[in-house]
Amino acid sequence: MNKALAKNMPATIQIDGSQGEGGGQILRTALALSMIRGQAFELINIRAGRKKPGLMRQHLVCVQASQQISQAYVQGAELHSQRLYFAPQHVQSGKYQFQIGSAGSTTLVLQTLLPALLLQNQASELTISGGTHNPLAPTADFIEQCFLPALKKLGIDTEFKLNKAGFFPIGAGEIYIKIQPWQHRNRLNLLDCGALQSIGAFAAVLNLSEKAQIVQRELATLNKRLKLDTQHQFHLNGISQGNTVYVKVECENHTQLFTSLGEIRKSAEQIANHLAEQVKQYMESSAAVDEYLADQLLLPLALGQGGEFTAQYISEHTRTQASMIEKFIECDIEFIELNKNLFQIKVNVES
Ligand code: ATP
Repeated sequence: MNKALAKNMPATIQIDGSQGEGGGQILRTALALSMIRGQAFELINIRAGRKKPGLMRQHLVCVQASQQISQAYVQGAELHSQRLYFAPQHVQSGKYQFQIGSAGSTTLVLQTLLPALLLQNQASELTISGGTHNPLAPTADFIEQCFLPALKKLGIDTEFKLNKAGFFPIGAGEIYIKIQPWQHRNRLNLLDCGALQSIGAFAAVLNLSEKAQIVQRELATLNKRLKLDTQHQFHLNGISQGNTVYVKVECENHTQLFTSLGEIRKSAEQIANHLAEQVKQYMESSAAVDEYLADQLLLPLALGQGGEFTAQYISEHTRTQASMIEKFIECDIEFIELNKNLFQIKVNVES
């Protein structure tokens, strides 16, 4: 797009990336909302709150992928850049492939593109390669079994597949998603997750020696701590090395996932104990969703009919996400503290 065209757009939104939590989410949310609203933004102080500020490879791929699907005019899309200007044109549904070229998170690229693509008239298909099991990001399992099923309640229809797993530092994983146009927008009412149906634990290793019995030790530790209904060892494909373990808590109205990734110098027992602790805290609170799903649900709710849900904790990340959404969309996001481990979140949209 040339500058003259950019001038016909609504005024550029100015965003300071050092606000609130100061992380990559500000960029991803700005990209998603800018494409949806057809509104340009200028983001300064990108990831100012982080040790290595500016655009890392994963963030840069989010910018490039957004540019590709919306034919945007972009300035400042370079590694380590701390300023970005992004002016989208039309979002185009279709079949796209994106490669992060490192172990950067594929799921965060997916979450950047999903909102704009699901608002199109035709389906889209994305294949994204890079990391699929990254610390500090949703894993492919979390996306498939927790995030997308929650979106299904809003009427969002997708098919997801983990083709290959990718762990740090090699990555080389691959995810696939088919996104259908969002036809029937439902309001979310998830104040109570309903009766507990089952708790299952799932563990896998990729290209690590079976001798260490990592999976068996993780499952045994989780079983001791959580009285599991089921335990599963599952298989992953790929060329990187890693270990992932997750617990799936299935309730009548919601399925919540908690994940840990194996780390060098941490025993299988330590990894599993840390995970068990997260699950116990969730079971003891009467919240429907965890801290992470809470921030991930805000944007889809704001784009649809809104709704309300309860969460265990409101992170700085969630608050920053809410203020970003309110910058682009007419909506009001309220956080009500019901007690120390229970918050009600209301997303009110103009009907
Ligand atoms: P930065 O490097 O600047 O921190 P980032 O781009 O890696 O940024 P964040 O801004 O921290 O990422 O956003 C991470 C996203 O990953 C959030 O939406 C958060 O909910 C999600 N996330 C982090 N940990 C988990 C987890 N264990 N399970 C599910 N989702 C997670």
